[in-house]
Amino acid sequence: DVVRHFPVTRGAVLRRVVGRVRALDGVSLTLARGETLGIVGESGCGKSTLARVLTALDRPGSGEVTVLGMPLHRMRGSELRRARRHVQLVFQDPYGSLDPRMTVAEIVREPYEVHPDLVPRGRREERVRELLEVVGLNPDHSGRFPHQFSGGQRQRVGIARALALRPDVLVCDEPVSALDVSVQAQIVNLLERLREEFRLAYVFIAHDLGVVRHLADRVAVMYLGRVVETGSASDVYEHAAHPYTRALLSAAPVPDPASRGTRREIVLTGEPPSPVDVPPGCSFHPRCPVAVADCRRLPPVLAPVARPGHLAACHLAGR
Ligand code: SF4
Ligand code: MG
Repeated sequence: DVVRHFPVTRGAVLRRVVGRVRALDGVSLTLARGETLGIVGESGCGKSTLARVLTALDRPGSGEVTVLGMPLHRMRGSELRRARRHVQLVFQDPYGSLDPRMTVAEIVREPYEVHPDLVPRGRREERVRELLEVVGLNPDHSGRFPHQFSGGQRQRVGIARALALRPDVLVCDEPVSALDVSVQAQIVNLLERLREEFRLAYVFIAHDLGVVRHLADRVAVMYLGRVVETGSASDVYEHAAHPYTRALLSAAPVPDPASRGTRREIVLTGEPPSPVDVPPGCSFHPRCPVAVADCRRLPPVLAPVARPGHLAACHLAGR
């Protein structure tokens, strides 16, 4: 079986200025068909901006976004609309992202208003029922409104809507972080099943390395709008090279038979990062437990560590 690799964002250099906030700076990511890329970082690191840029909801201030060979940053109007069909977004908030005045059937069917040629009008109701079934909802409940569903069920509605256009890529922006812990695993399992069934590639965004561990083939760790480490899941989880990645890993929930759900002490110290006032040199230096004098003035570049494809932006990485 030949695996076809193609870039989703080949050499994408995104440079986005939101007021004085530098949300993304030189972010470059690639994704192969059927692959899951986990993007991890604290709030304010630019993850949601990246999600919106990748799905062409926002334009990059400058730079390029190439998805499946399509230069989204250069497209407009109907051309951009057609391209967007291939890359759909699953939102973080299953409460705020569904219109409370629309029935579930109307919500899931809505993408066909923008892409009317995809499914003929007469077949849409049937398609909506199929989509609801695929995400584990009762198709007979399609006339109900969002408030009649639980948070987990609403996220399933959001996923059904994202699948309506048969995309190649789902960008999931913290799809489980607004949900109860007991429901999170169900949604992650659903996404895993859909990946096989629909041959999807995922960009799975999370603030916690633990959430993407189960799904991700590759991981990119972001800090203040930059990718500070990227590599295969085993490189990043087992051979983390950047002090920030190590801090995130040590903060991840550790299975403890005595008291389930307890967390190991967080190594990270200092103020949460402000994207408005990015420290000079290595932007992580005020919180870095191993910073040296050079870190305050020299910005490290993303450079190979040990294995091919494993990169880290730290003066001490790989030494
Ligand atoms: Fe820490 Fe320096 Fe590496 Fe930045 S470059 S992560 S401050 S050691
Ligand atoms: Mg966010």
